[in-house]
Amino acid sequence: MLRTIKPKFFKYKNGKLPLPVFFPDATRAVIRSLDTSDLEATKTNGILVNTFHLWKDMNKNILSKAGGIGPFMDFDGAIISDSGGFQVGSMIKKNPGVGYVDDEGAHFKIDGKKGYLTLTPEDSVRFQMELGSDMVVVLDDFDAPGAAEDENMESVKRTILWAEKSKKEFENICVKKKLTKKNRPYILGVIQGGRYKRLRKYCIDALVDLGFDGFGYGGEEKIKGMVNHDISKFVADNTPGGLLLYALGVGKPEDIVALSKLGYTIFDCVLPTRDARHKRMYVYNADSIEEINIKSPDFYSFYTPDKTKYLDDLSPVSKACDCVTCTRYSRGYLAHLFKIGDFTAGRLATIHNLRFYSILMEKIREQNRSRK
Ligand SMILES: [Zn+2]
Repeated sequence: MLRTIKPKFFKYKNGKLPLPVFFPDATRAVIRSLDTSDLEATKTNGILVNTFHLWKDMNKNILSKAGGIGPFMDFDGAIISDSGGFQVGSMIKKNPGVGYVDDEGAHFKIDGKKGYLTLTPEDSVRFQMELGSDMVVVLDDFDAPGAAEDENMESVKRTILWAEKSKKEFENICVKKKLTKKNRPYILGVIQGGRYKRLRKYCIDALVDLGFDGFGYGGEEKIKGMVNHDISKFVADNTPGGLLLYALGVGKPEDIVALSKLGYTIFDCVLPTRDARHKRMYVYNADSIEEINIKSPDFYSFYTPDKTKYLDDLSPVSKACDCVTCTRYSRGYLAHLFKIGDFTAGRLATIHNLRFYSILMEKIREQNRSRK
């Protein structure tokens, strides 16, 4: 089952996006310091929102009054939601004091409240449908990288059980809302199994039998901060072509380039926005957008905007960028804003990093077209 056929588009409520696509994380329905017009100006055409945080904190009435997260934010692009599965791993498994997981779902201890708040796989699907997500990702039992084989097996089994429950709930909602294959959101299963190919294959086969529009690849091992491409390749080679393949939380530019070659078409990550706030900007090693060469191993570098030497520099942050930060302002102005600690500094840096990522996806798509 080699991945020879790749889907070309991501269909969503307001149109279709050419693949591959990168969705920055707008965790609580906002990218910190940016409003929707800023986001549009970066040519970011889709975002990822966090199911667990919105489910826990958001007023459900305003969500249904607005008609979902897209209209609430006045954002016409694609909206995808994660499942809440990552919180199972990052909160509960790392620190059992904050909750526990059983076949029913994930039970979280919330500060200042008695008892547990339970997120079931069915809750996760229902809430993602209320969010108006264009891609529902089913709740998975996430094991931290490096977990032992028996722990991974337990996660895989629970992931399959939850996937079955989620699919059933999704189908019920589609019937109730009269959604057809044409106008319903995508539904994705998540492949667990850690570094064990046997477990990954077992998980893939069970999820393929249940029938999904695509697969998320979660719980990847990282070696020296890089994604383990061996397992990524195994997953890509063993899932049916033509379906969506989503590299969950993968966002280093070089990893996106490598995984899109293997057949991954959807990426999300906090990196461009979080890094921007921490004065880490991504800059292409080129003098114009046309001259960017993503095939070169060092196609970009990091730029630290607050260095003293930039305070009297009137050149743009990057010549290979057409974002508002690079076309209107200088390195010196940005360095000044960071020096005085103004909010605008983080905003301008975030705008630039997001445009870096939208250019990256444009370049990958260009490369894919020319390869044919
Ligand atoms: Zn820029």
